[in-house]
Amino acid sequence: MGLTDDDIRLMPECVQPIEKETVFRFSCHKDLDCFTECCRLLELTLSPYDILRLRRATGLSSTAFLHQYVIVEDSAEEFFPQLFLTMLDDGRASCPFVSPNGCTIYPNRPGACRAYPLGRACKQLASGYSEEAFILVREPHCHGFSGEVHQTAEQYCSDQGLVIYNQFNDTIASLLKHPRIHARGPLEPEEKDLLMLLLYDIDRLRIELAGNRLTGLTPITTQYLLSQSDEDLLLWAVDWLKQRLFS
Ligand code: SF4
Ligand code: SF4
Repeated sequence: MGLTDDDIRLMPECVQPIEKETVFRFSCHKDLDCFTECCRLLELTLSPYDILRLRRATGLSSTAFLHQYVIVEDSAEEFFPQLFLTMLDDGRASCPFVSPNGCTIYPNRPGACRAYPLGRACKQLASGYSEEAFILVREPHCHGFSGEVHQTAEQYCSDQGLVIYNQFNDTIASLLKHPRIHARGPLEPEEKDLLMLLLYDIDRLRIELAGNRLTGLTPITTQYLLSQSDEDLLLWAVDWLKQRLFS
C-alpha cells in the first residue's frame, strides 16, 4: 500500500517506512539489557483473533477472559469499540503476562507483540488484491537493532508466526474498516452488544446459539455453526455482521 508523502512526513523520527523486501538487522533475546522492557508502559490493542488465542493460553472462557483482562473503550470518535489488555498497577504498567523469563503465554502472544518493532498495514483493492505497507519503529529503549540477524519484513512476519494473525486481521478489517461505515451512522447499543458477542466472546456466542437466541438463523444453520471450530465461527461472524450492519 503506498504510504503517501503526507503519511511519511507526519511519522515520528523513530518510525522508518520500509518495503516488504527491505533487509533489516534485528534480533530479540534474553541476554539483552532491554529484555521485557517493551512489555511495560504500553497500550496493547487486542483483535478478535488475539482474544481467541489468549483465551486458549489462559484456559479461561472468553467471557471470563474479557472480564479479567480486558478494558473496552467505547468513545464517540470511534465507530467500533476498541479492546485493550489491562496492565498491572505496579508502577510500570507491566503486562499481566510478563515474567523475569519473558512472556508466559509466548506461543499465544498477541499479534502486536509478535510484530514489534515492525508495523504493518494492509489495504484491500477494488481488484480483489491487497497491498501491504511496513514500518520499523526504532525506539531508544529497544536494543535489538544491534543484533546479528538480518531479515526482510516478510521473513520476520513468518518467523514470528504472524502470517495467520495477519490473515485473520485482514479479514476482520473488511468489517471494522467497512466502506459504508460513515454512510450508515453510529451503531445502536444493541448492535454494539451483538458485535462484542460475535467477535470477542465466542463461548457466550456458543451458549446463545445453543439456546436459539440469535435471530435470523434456521435450526440447521445453528447446528452447523455449533459444529464449527472457533476460527471458522469467527470468520462466519465477520461475514454475518457485515450483512447485518451494512446491507
Ligand atoms: S503478551 Fe507477552 S509479549 Fe506481549 S506484552 Fe505481554 S508479556 Fe510481553
Ligand atoms: S530487543 Fe526490543 S523487542 Fe526485544 S526485549 Fe528488547 S525492547 Fe523488547
